[in-house]
Amino acid sequence: MEKVTEYFGSMVFDDRIMKATLSEKVYKSLKRTIDRGTPLDISVANAVAAAMKDWAIEKGATHYTHWFQPMTGVTAEKHDSFISPAPDGRVIMEFSGKELVKGEPDASSFPSGGLRATFEARGYTAWDPTSYAFIKDGTLYIPTAFCSYTGEALDKKVPLLRSMEAINKQALRILKLFGNTKVKSVKTSVGPEQEYFLVDREMWKKRKDLIMTGRTLFGAMPPKGQEMDDHYFGSIKPRVAEYMADLDRELWKLGIPAKTKHNEVAPAQHELAPIYDTTNIAADHNQLTMEVMQKVAQRHGLVCLLHEKPFAGVNGSGKHNNWSISTDQGENLLSPGETPAENAQFLLFLAAVIKAVDDYQDLLRLSVATAGNDHRLGANEAPPAVISIFLGDELTAVLDAIETDTPYGGTAKEKMKLGVDVLPQFSKDSTDRNRTSPFAFTGNKFEFRMLGSSNSISCANIHLNAAVAEVLKQFADELETVSDFNASLHELIKRTIKEHKRIIFNGNGYDDAWIAEAEKRGLMNLKTTADAMPHICDKKNVDMLTAHGIFTEAEIFSRRDIMLENYIKTVNIEAVTMIDMARKEIIPATAKFAADTASAVAVKKSVSKAACKYETKLVTELSELIDEMDTAASELEDAVAEFRTIEVIVDAADFIRDTVLPAMDKLRSAADKAETLTAESYWPFPAYDKLLFGV
Ligand code: ADP
Ligand code: MG
Repeated sequence: MEKVTEYFGSMVFDDRIMKATLSEKVYKSLKRTIDRGTPLDISVANAVAAAMKDWAIEKGATHYTHWFQPMTGVTAEKHDSFISPAPDGRVIMEFSGKELVKGEPDASSFPSGGLRATFEARGYTAWDPTSYAFIKDGTLYIPTAFCSYTGEALDKKVPLLRSMEAINKQALRILKLFGNTKVKSVKTSVGPEQEYFLVDREMWKKRKDLIMTGRTLFGAMPPKGQEMDDHYFGSIKPRVAEYMADLDRELWKLGIPAKTKHNEVAPAQHELAPIYDTTNIAADHNQLTMEVMQKVAQRHGLVCLLHEKPFAGVNGSGKHNNWSISTDQGENLLSPGETPAENAQFLLFLAAVIKAVDDYQDLLRLSVATAGNDHRLGANEAPPAVISIFLGDELTAVLDAIETDTPYGGTAKEKMKLGVDVLPQFSKDSTDRNRTSPFAFTGNKFEFRMLGSSNSISCANIHLNAAVAEVLKQFADELETVSDFNASLHELIKRTIKEHKRIIFNGNGYDDAWIAEAEKRGLMNLKTTADAMPHICDKKNVDMLTAHGIFTEAEIFSRRDIMLENYIKTVNIEAVTMIDMARKEIIPATAKFAADTASAVAVKKSVSKAACKYETKLVTELSELIDEMDTAASELEDAVAEFRTIEVIVDAADFIRDTVLPAMDKLRSAADKAETLTAESYWPFPAYDKLLFGV
């Protein structure tokens, strides 16, 4: 067996390969572009392109593609081969700097939310040299940003890079105030933990709902669900273990540092976590990971479900976005330090995150809002739709002491004085145990836990970075003008805690009492995508996002429309699929079982005096349920028809939430009851027990 250390990153045009294949001058120039964003000379681009092509061909590649992340949520690619005609009728393999740096996919069929009229379909992709090129399936993949010709972002990478630049700029101002002049750049890092389900491919094929929508639209709970809690961290079944090993290998070849794998809470549910990386690379890698997960599953006769809620009544899947900020000197700014000065700096960054999360609750909430994730948030398995921060008791006590000018810890005689006193040592363990908080401090990073399993992590990080950049800016504006830095710093932190401590909650986030309490504290509770998404256009959000150059106003409005369109399209497909399954599969199957039972009664009665009480009751119940399903299906048909007449997108989203989704619930409820009364051999597709325990 080949050693991991030998094949890790073997398909990546990484630093090692760059050094080996580029001249020193070209390498240095490219490094400058990667590290500091300096523009790339065309002669350098040509040299890099030539080296990339030779390396890729050596590895068996015949094509290249500009790989990008349009607003559809999945990645896009168009493959061009390297071939170019030669005078002798044969071909040579070519790849120029121009082709590396810029591409022009036909952009007309990607969502732009009105940014780009279809007659002006041109958009272009631009190479992102900060994310390594790689080879997959015989093609050289070049990570790129996707823009319109007028410069508007049409993807998720451009605003993510802009948000990283915003936080870099503001954090550097803060560090300078602390006398930290060596630092050249500040970057955010992310480690996304990815949850997923595995189901058997043959069973999957029999379910239109899984095929069309990625989740089961019908299905009664099996006799055994997850109540035994025997799956979490349980031993991994051989077929799953083989899948995971294969997946690790594929990811490692692509330079993705897959680190942890284990079973999750629900049966058939698992998790994979990589080692954290710079945010834009983590985003590219997570996108690739999701794709590879699905591809490898096929090879094992499995299907990998990334939907947030594949099974009603069973835990859904999310993604934990572990986030930190650190300097090019390797200092994690969210790590409590050893000296008083380091601690003061840590507390300022901590205060900034607290204020940012409080001021921009809506932006964080809507960054994870999708039709799929609406089924999870607030359903006692994932954090509620209310944003709050978990800090742990120790850190909360420190902040209390600062806010109220009282001694920390009761026994200490001294008050906490910033810039003078050393913070108590926090044990990482004591901060890491709350699993119900949407946004938890875990010792040296924050874990944003509301992301859905299929979400791109870009949206959450764009908004998080932007919000923190904004608060750091406010802090820097204030502190840059003061004469007594330590005293002003102390006052600023104190004031920030006082004004924003409402967002801190260390208790059980799944408790209904918390929702009531949160309401009293004035926190937002945006339950659905339809409720959350329009807030991106609130003035305070538009002002902040445009001030930091994250989005233009036009981009913000277009994004709202794209995300809402995504929501309504998703639910509409689900509704239509439900009607189809109910009319063509479920109602006929139930009717057939009822008819057969009724015939059996007739036969029985013809030969005996039996009353056939059970069968008669069953046939009656089934007939009633058939009528109920028919009525509910008709109501859903009407709702879908009415929905199609609504032109204003926010109204359409409200209609989905208020009318279509409840109609779907009604149809499902009748069908699930029918399922529990119908003999298994009559049911038209595999039930939950088969799907969940069939691998
Ligand atoms: P768990 O949450 O299961 O206790 P960890 O906290 O160790 O596990 O790691 C979860 C994820 O957080 C991993 O992807 C890990 O690489 C990432 N992570 C660890 N430290 C940091 C950090 N400083 N910044 C960002 N992500 C981090
Ligand atoms: Mg975690």
